[in-house]
Amino acid sequence: MNKLAKIYDQVVKRDSHEPEFLQAVREVLESLEPVAEKYPQFLEAGIFERIVEPERTIIFRVPWINDKGEVQVNRGYRVQFNSAIGPYKGGIRFHPSVNLSIIKFLGFEQIFKNSLTGLPMGGGKGGSDFDPKGKSDGEIMRFCQSFMIELSKHIGPDTDVPAGDIGVGAREIGFMYGMYKRLANEFTGVLTGKGLTYGGSIGRTQATGYGLCYFMDEAMKSIKGRSFEGATVVISGAGNVAIYACEKAQQLGAKVVAMCDSTGYIYDKNGIDLQAVKKIKEVERKRIYEYQKYHPDAEYKDGCSGIWSIKCDIALPCATQNELDGEAAKTLVKNGCWAVGEGANMPCTPEAVEIFLKNGLVYAPGKASNAGGVACSGLEMSQNSIRLSWTLEEVDQRLRHIMTDIYRNASAAAKEFGHENNLVVGANIAGFMKVANAMLAQGVAY
Ligand code: NDP
Repeated sequence: MNKLAKIYDQVVKRDSHEPEFLQAVREVLESLEPVAEKYPQFLEAGIFERIVEPERTIIFRVPWINDKGEVQVNRGYRVQFNSAIGPYKGGIRFHPSVNLSIIKFLGFEQIFKNSLTGLPMGGGKGGSDFDPKGKSDGEIMRFCQSFMIELSKHIGPDTDVPAGDIGVGAREIGFMYGMYKRLANEFTGVLTGKGLTYGGSIGRTQATGYGLCYFMDEAMKSIKGRSFEGATVVISGAGNVAIYACEKAQQLGAKVVAMCDSTGYIYDKNGIDLQAVKKIKEVERKRIYEYQKYHPDAEYKDGCSGIWSIKCDIALPCATQNELDGEAAKTLVKNGCWAVGEGANMPCTPEAVEIFLKNGLVYAPGKASNAGGVACSGLEMSQNSIRLSWTLEEVDQRLRHIMTDIYRNASAAAKEFGHENNLVVGANIAGFMKVANAMLAQGVAY
């Protein structure tokens, strides 16, 4: 880093207590150095200083009452990061680890991801340190309603359109939408990931996982001349992204041999039985070790990091940030892994990414490869605006096109700036250019 090093130093000074946010900013600014060289107008207009500072940060109290009648208090967040190319758009995460650093890193990444989709969506993210695990449906509903009572003051179909993320699926979106509708007295597409009976898009549930596989298919064929056909795949996570990545990888001819949740991982050398995983995680909301009830031959191990020691061709980290470190990356490379596609946001540490790039693996950063979810959310917004619903075929075809285009644009940007096949550089530059040009056009006080 040269010209942008000073800007990064300022961010470190201001946000020194936000490690995940600093990690995300550093990676992006390092990639953008050649852009700053080529387009001095971005430096002159302070685009880099502005893009690392959220337009608005909202932190709020979320009081609710548990089943025992006791008052509980959680903290809610919405970071409205950048609206240069469209209304703020990004998910809501409910997890005890949620803090301002994590929401800011996710919101920052979202700016570039949303830009890459080619759809008019700005970047934002929200969440709470509320832990949905072990809560009754009534408790989840009361929490979601309280969360929305405050959030509703800051969102709208043309202002900010939240969606799901870790801990926020169809059930939570439904409860939040119900409360928003009562408060605003309008039926508008203010959230995405809605149920199909009230404005949701068919294909949204599958979109991030399917999109990841579409992106990887294109990248692997064009960089290595290889595909999912006959490949062995390891996937971390057993949530929304992981389940549908597994489904599409299997459809494309791969054998997925391992998945995990936050307690441990399962290894099934015969290939994962996805129906069993769906039953355990989607229907019963239980732990992944229940898999052994269906397949006693499968192995279960406590803890998740061991999953990366399983020999595979393709690794798809789909659980959470910084889940795959330098040691895990070395083990994957040693075992012959030749492609890594991020379904989660920033699941690989900077050390791991460096190892993948040095060893010539196909490495797809999440902001490009997991953009299918938000892309489909963008399609949900379009359908809500025109009050029509497209078929699964139409949505899936658009998703595939978008993911292929994201790969091609990132790949072309990497090549143009002298980093052929480096999709980290390519995705950051391709995502940045549109937002930067919009900010430039809109002037400093926009
Ligand atoms: P879910 O809550 O549906 O699933 C998350 C899965 O990861 C669960 O199986 C969970 O285990 C597991 N997990 C969470 N933390 C850890 C951990 N520390 N170690 C191991 N496993 C863990 O979330 P999503 O599938 O929606 O999201 C997963 C990732 O994908 C996140 O990084 C998210 O930001 C990203 N993403 C999601 C999109 C979407 O459309 N949903 C879009 C783009 C990115 P357990 O069941 O025990 O909780």
